[in-house]
Amino acid sequence: MNAQQMPSPTALGLRIAAMIRATGPMNLSEYMHVCLNDSVHGYYRHQQAIGRTGDFITSPEISQMFGELIGVWCTAIWQAMGSPGKFVLAEAGPGRGTLMADLLRACARFPGFLDAARIRLIETSPAMILEQKSRLAGLARECEWHAALDHVDELPLILVANEFLDVLPIRQFIKTATGWREHCIGTCADGSLEWVVGTTLLGSSQLPANAHERTEGSIFEIAPAREAWTQNLTERLVANGGAALFIDYGHAHTRFGGTFQALRNHRPVDPLAGPGLCDLTAHVDFSAIGSVAAAAGAQTSPVISQGTFLQAMGLAERAGAMGAGKSAQMRADIRLQAERLVMPDKMGELFKVLALASPEFAPALALIPPFCLRNGN
Ligand code: SAH
Repeated sequence: MNAQQMPSPTALGLRIAAMIRATGPMNLSEYMHVCLNDSVHGYYRHQQAIGRTGDFITSPEISQMFGELIGVWCTAIWQAMGSPGKFVLAEAGPGRGTLMADLLRACARFPGFLDAARIRLIETSPAMILEQKSRLAGLARECEWHAALDHVDELPLILVANEFLDVLPIRQFIKTATGWREHCIGTCADGSLEWVVGTTLLGSSQLPANAHERTEGSIFEIAPAREAWTQNLTERLVANGGAALFIDYGHAHTRFGGTFQALRNHRPVDPLAGPGLCDLTAHVDFSAIGSVAAAAGAQTSPVISQGTFLQAMGLAERAGAMGAGKSAQMRADIRLQAERLVMPDKMGELFKVLALASPEFAPALALIPPFCLRNGN
């Protein structure tokens, strides 16, 4: 479906237009939050979001190998932490629960790991929680759900998150003759939504040093919600010990340009048409996340590509083992799935990996990807 075919306006679109008429243009952060999380019409409240029949497909849905290798990463981290007898194994934004299911299956082979783990899923969408509960029901492991990290037990922590940071709201600023002004959403006479330039200015301390070289119309994005999440997580890691792994699409170095996008039925659509009906995301600036974590006292890994990470974790070997003794067709399918995860023209390069850890584990982590690898782009 393209922008022209999007039903217009949606119930949520009408409500947003009324809010804008009452209180003035809405910034992108507020728009993303309302569109994704509104308790009645929010995207994650009612849409069949992920998978072949949904709007987008994620790495865990492409192959079980993805979650299994993240499980191997968790066990390596746990050993590097001195194999604590009680720790929290958490996933933020678990989607359909597939990553956690594959991870738990892989980890069952590591003696002691699952007995020590308190499994916690951090999820805000009731519809997603139902899906996760049904996916994880057969695993004979007790899981708990929480709406925020704050509610999770204060224990050593291993946290993983795939395509989670990209759903946390961002703000956009546009360069004008009078400075970098907030890119906001206004409403037209017919009730449809449009981009407008707001009055809030972004100060030079929040802009890259070369911002003055950009031409008018250039966009710069900041993500206060992601940074707050990272800050909160890092404070936990530093206080209780542990590590976190983020995988998402984005860039290793801060850059200019708008990356806010909407997906519906696996296709990009106009993000202002059909509020609540499409997935809204933006690329993750991993250098901003890493800086927040480092300033709060975490050890940060280099930012590397998903392809490099999965290969270092043994994707080729796992694919070989999975294919052994299978039909030629099944081996070909496994190879295609592995290629989709690691090839630079598929998900291998756009998707990046960043790990954070409490500083006391630094020496033991030095052999574990991505800590042992070199920075990507
Ligand atoms: N990790 C999954 C799903 C990614 S989609 C995968 O790889 O398939 C994003 C997920 O984050 C959804 O489950 C969504 O409901 C959840 N989510 C969105 N905002 C959230 C928030 N603020 N806190 C926790 N989960 C959130």
